[in-house]
Amino acid sequence: PVDRLPEIQEARLRLPILAEEQVIMEAVREKECVVLCGETGSGKTTQVPQFLYEAGYASSGGIIGVTEPRRVAAISMSHRVATEMNLPSGVVSYQIRYEGNVTENTKIKFMTDGVLLKEIQKDFLLQKYSVVIIDEAHERSVYTDILIGLLSRIVPLRNKKGLPMKLIIMSATLRVEDFTENKRLFRTPPPVIKVEARQFAVTVHFNKRTPVDNYTGEAFRKICKIHRMLPPGGILVFLTGQAEVHSVCRRLRKAFPYRPHREHTDSMETEEDLKSKRAKKKKNMSLPRINLDSYSALPVDEGDEDRQAGIDDNDNEGSDLELGDHPDSDHEEKADPSIPLYVLPLYSLLAPEQQAKVFSPPPTGARLCVVATNVAETSLTIPGIKYVVDCGRVKKRFYDRVTGVSSFKVTWISQASANQRAGRAGRTEPGHCYRLYSSAVFGDFSLFSEAEITRRPVDDLVLQMKDLNIEKVVNFPFPTPPSSEVLISAEQLLISLGALEEPPRRGRLGEMERARLSCPITPLGRAMAAFPVAPRYAKMLALGRQQGCMPYIITIVAAMTVREIFEDYDRPAGSEEENTKMAGKKARCVQMRRLWAGQGQSVQLGDLMVLLGAVGACEFAGCTHQFCEENGLRYKAMLEIRRLRGQLTNAVNAVCSDAGVYVDNKMAPPTASQVLCLRQIVLAGLGDHIARRVQAEELLDPKWRNGYKTPLLDDPVFIHPSSALHKTLPEFVVYQEIMETTKMYMRGVCAVQAE
Ligand code: ADP
Ligand code: MG
Repeated sequence: PVDRLPEIQEARLRLPILAEEQVIMEAVREKECVVLCGETGSGKTTQVPQFLYEAGYASSGGIIGVTEPRRVAAISMSHRVATEMNLPSGVVSYQIRYEGNVTENTKIKFMTDGVLLKEIQKDFLLQKYSVVIIDEAHERSVYTDILIGLLSRIVPLRNKKGLPMKLIIMSATLRVEDFTENKRLFRTPPPVIKVEARQFAVTVHFNKRTPVDNYTGEAFRKICKIHRMLPPGGILVFLTGQAEVHSVCRRLRKAFPYRPHREHTDSMETEEDLKSKRAKKKKNMSLPRINLDSYSALPVDEGDEDRQAGIDDNDNEGSDLELGDHPDSDHEEKADPSIPLYVLPLYSLLAPEQQAKVFSPPPTGARLCVVATNVAETSLTIPGIKYVVDCGRVKKRFYDRVTGVSSFKVTWISQASANQRAGRAGRTEPGHCYRLYSSAVFGDFSLFSEAEITRRPVDDLVLQMKDLNIEKVVNFPFPTPPSSEVLISAEQLLISLGALEEPPRRGRLGEMERARLSCPITPLGRAMAAFPVAPRYAKMLALGRQQGCMPYIITIVAAMTVREIFEDYDRPAGSEEENTKMAGKKARCVQMRRLWAGQGQSVQLGDLMVLLGAVGACEFAGCTHQFCEENGLRYKAMLEIRRLRGQLTNAVNAVCSDAGVYVDNKMAPPTASQVLCLRQIVLAGLGDHIARRVQAEELLDPKWRNGYKTPLLDDPVFIHPSSALHKTLPEFVVYQEIMETTKMYMRGVCAVQAE
């Protein structure tokens, strides 16, 4: 019996999914696996766990598990469901990589998909759970795909053992054939239940011409027009990245200033909120507040945040720079306070309390305008949207399959995405979608977006799967299998790291490759799989005990796997004054980096020494917000490193019980011999990421000046001007990754000792 508040009950009854409760629960009772499709906002995530709870799926010891591809969704949905059910967070709980509020009484557990994958490693049958819901399956995140593959085996096993278990796959689109028509996955196709959402007609308006690059300017003009000329109704704008979002927000706030009056404050913002806002205003009005807490780490950790967003602030070459700040090329609207616009940004790194604002109604008299990245496409439903402005683009990370070079590119979305975006306008009444591209361009879009697993390296997944004793990874029932080329290169890397056994050297090429694809895991591989970081870093941890290097290696690995620890002072500022201030801060940051790079031997550790020095100094000072602010470090990133150090320390102690490492906040700098050892450990992990400086006599082409040669690339790669080794240019270096921006730059560079 659930005791819901009357207003909650009323809102629930309006959700289309309520009409389908019987049908859904009957299918779940009859079948092992059910696929549920329903438009975003139809009530899947918030209601299905409640249906199951009320049908008794959590009453005989088992719990209801729900996986989300994003941390924000796991947290916010657990809060929402707890509120709706009038139950405490100890009963409706969440678990993400570092934190959670799960208790012994937890009945409904929201978690990221990576968390559930880790649990499968501990208990393959997932005996705690009576039902697992895989949410947002249409996003086709790598972990979602793997979980579906694993659960397609786990569920029948559980039922055979007389421990019944159900699987529910939920999708916002009807494109579920990869799950239902895949005979390797489900021999008998699971039933598909469609939830008919009340979708009102959305009129789609195409642009006649497609702006080549200044789509943010075009978006701004379109929003202004809508706001001036069209009847009330919220506006939702899709752009590609955080910087673009802020830039358009700033221009809109200037054009249609909205000043909160006292009378709306209670519905809108707390006193506290306003106070801090005022304080902020005095200090630095237009510097965005960003939540660095939800940093997405390198590919391996959980399939959390959308990784596009994770890098936004890292990417200075973004097409947004030219946008906001050319008043002459792009005429600014005159400020018009008579028609206030309530402008809110929305992207996945934004702090959860800022994100939550989009759910509340705008202040009276003001129109809501949410300027968002792709997060608004499916995972969050914003009430009251009548107009959608769609730039037609998305920012994605691309990896070169052969060379591993990665870059962030803004590309066209798929037709399916464009239609999802348009659909956001017709939730409460008929709406309009303005596409900032022509219908001809739309016609050239691909029909659907590709599954993530086909777009990134899979060495972390292959190691996790081997640790689950899935030896023949090629035979795994992937909803969409990665290419065998990618699987082979993943196994190759794992063999070279010592995580997998060498294949026997016999037979012809084809046979060898087949043999390679079924190499068993080594004891070292098992140890590596226990560390929640990518295999290259796990190898470093596995070697870290020598010469007392473990605390340093843990710190270096933690810092390398958190996206960006330094504040970015290159983003466009609002005013002259801010620019000057930023320049000052940047200078201070450069100076600090030089200091952290150390002296003598330490210098050879390059950027990794800078990371170690920065974390060491910050922890020594108590990891305060003030220290970070003064020294150009991102406070939330430092907090994440702190948590990760704790977690890695525990993992190391668990893997080797006599390691006896602990987190030392007053770490002394490494000695000269430790530095040498650290460099060797780093080389052992990054051995395939080696580069050699081009010799003067080889300099036939000026493009090779100061360039480095790598085994796989024909073109030179470079040490970035912000690197500690930019001036030294050691003969051999290893690097963390190559990022292509204006040039191919190595990130995280460390000098290798040449003989
Ligand atoms: P789906 O998973 O099908 O996309 P949801 O279950 O997430 O749908 O959302 C159902 C409804 O609940 C939506 O109309 C949404 O606006 C509302 N809702 C979801 N989260 C919140 C929240 N935190 N506050 C208020 N309303 C919410
Ligand atoms: Mg949902």
